Amino acid sequence: MSKKLDENYKFARFLKNHAEEEEFDKRIKELHNKYFKTYDCSKCLNCCKKLNVSFSNKEIEAGSKELKCTVEELKNKYLTFDKLENKYITKTTPCPFLKNQQCILKNSKPKNCKDYPYTNKKERIHSLYTLVNNAEICPVVDKILDELKSIYHFKVR
Ligand code: SF4
Repeated sequence: MSKKLDENYKFARFLKNHAEEEEFDKRIKELHNKYFKTYDCSKCLNCCKKLNVSFSNKEIEAGSKELKCTVEELKNKYLTFDKLENKYITKTTPCPFLKNQQCILKNSKPKNCKDYPYTNKKERIHSLYTLVNNAEICPVVDKILDELKSIYHFKVR
C-alpha cells in the first residue's frame, strides 16, 4: 500500500469520529463544485481507463440504439455478465466504449459514468472507503481529500 493510500485510510477512520454528516456533505459538495468547475475531465479519463462500469437493462437498450446495433450485439462486443454482482459490466479496462479518447456513448452514458466520482452526492460520510479508493483514480478526489484534511485539522502521523 502506498504512503498516500495509507494516510487516506487513516483520514477516513478519523472522519468517522470527527465529522458530522450534514456538515461533511456540505463541505465536500462545495469542494466538488470548486474543483470540477475548472478541471478538464476529457484530458484525464482515468475513470474510463481504469474502472469497469455496470449497465442496467435500460442502459444497454439505450446504448444499442445509439450504436445502431442489437442488444445482443452490444452485450457480445462490449460487456460481460458479472455473476457476483448479477449485472452486466464492461468487458475490459480501458472501457471498450472509449475510442480515440472519447466515449462513443454520447447520449446514452450509464448513470454511474455521469455520477462518478459521486463527491456531490449525499451521505458521503457512509462511503468514505469508496472515496479513498476513488482518490487513487481521480485527481480531483485526491485534491478534495487533501483539502478536507486541512479543514478537519487532520495531522498525518
Ligand atoms: S461508457 Fe463512456 S463514460 Fe463510461 S467509462 Fe466507458 S468511455 Fe467512460
